[in-house]
Amino acid sequence: MKAARLYEYDPDLRTSEPLKIEEVPEPEIHESLDVMVRVGGAGLCRTDIHIIQGLWDDALVVDPPYILGHENAGWVEEVGAGVRHVKPGDPVLVIPALTDGVCHACRRGEDNQCENLVWIGIQKDGGFADLMVVKERNLITLPEGLDPVKAAPLPDAGLTAYHTVKRAAALLHPGATVALIGIGGLGHLGLQAVRALTSFRLIAIDISETGLELARELGADQVVDASSHPVEAVMEITEDKGADAVIDFVGEGDVPAQALQMTRFGGYYFVVGYGGKIDVPTMEMIATEKKIIGNLGGTSSELMELVALSARGKIEIHTQAFELDRINEAIADLNAYRIKGRAVVTP
Ligand code: ZN
Ligand code: ZN
Repeated sequence: MKAARLYEYDPDLRTSEPLKIEEVPEPEIHESLDVMVRVGGAGLCRTDIHIIQGLWDDALVVDPPYILGHENAGWVEEVGAGVRHVKPGDPVLVIPALTDGVCHACRRGEDNQCENLVWIGIQKDGGFADLMVVKERNLITLPEGLDPVKAAPLPDAGLTAYHTVKRAAALLHPGATVALIGIGGLGHLGLQAVRALTSFRLIAIDISETGLELARELGADQVVDASSHPVEAVMEITEDKGADAVIDFVGEGDVPAQALQMTRFGGYYFVVGYGGKIDVPTMEMIATEKKIIGNLGGTSSELMELVALSARGKIEIHTQAFELDRINEAIADLNAYRIKGRAVVTP
């Protein structure tokens, strides 16, 4: 089968071909709960760029070369002897978190915090290929009307954004002001989740015109161009108070510092994007009672909620399709903020 594999890290993203497209042996079913999935679509995530840069090196459970792609949907191709819930031909979403199901976190329903979690497509072979093998518990059957190619970003970009917005919705009052930073793959879904779940006033911040345009189309109350004084802009909109919550889908460069500055006293800074650092004096933390909350994927139960919202048209993914042969072009476009919504690779 054809696959895109990573051989070597490239910290500064200098090469134009970080992934090598090549013929590799097809994966096989080894255990009774294994399921082979024919990949329909595989979303391209900023995490793929971070993997290429070497940020995940210590966490790998395979040696490179290996196949990236952690945001997958497709059709069941073949099942192990013990599989009961899906059959060949079923359209499915692949939850990227491979969990044990028995640790304390899994048993309390927070399987995104599983003590033995392995990320498919990040720490081991994923879906930038024709076929992939996962466990039965990784699959959610897609309801009628949701196309696997279009739905591919739901289990990663969609779920992470939904998980974060749901947490914010539980902490804030109706009418609260929320600033979303980065209206890309995750951000545009987070924006729709805010619309679907809450009555927050929504400020969308992005560095690119593509992102700002998407935010306007999706109904942001205000949009702020991140390239010119975003903190001042948010303070002006909020009458110098700051946003009740800032959800940061970027997490790099100056953004964490800016996000904390535009968070009001007692407000919440939700960290979703990563790669940078948060540097804040403890004095400031006690003086302002700001809360910093990390967010990792979401639970499988939240994914089922998100699938239901999508099936009812409340959350729509804007995708830009790239054939597998063009994956390096898609990576370059993502890195340069040229993707509107999410890039999805199709085998
Ligand atoms: Zn991701
Ligand atoms: Zn577990």
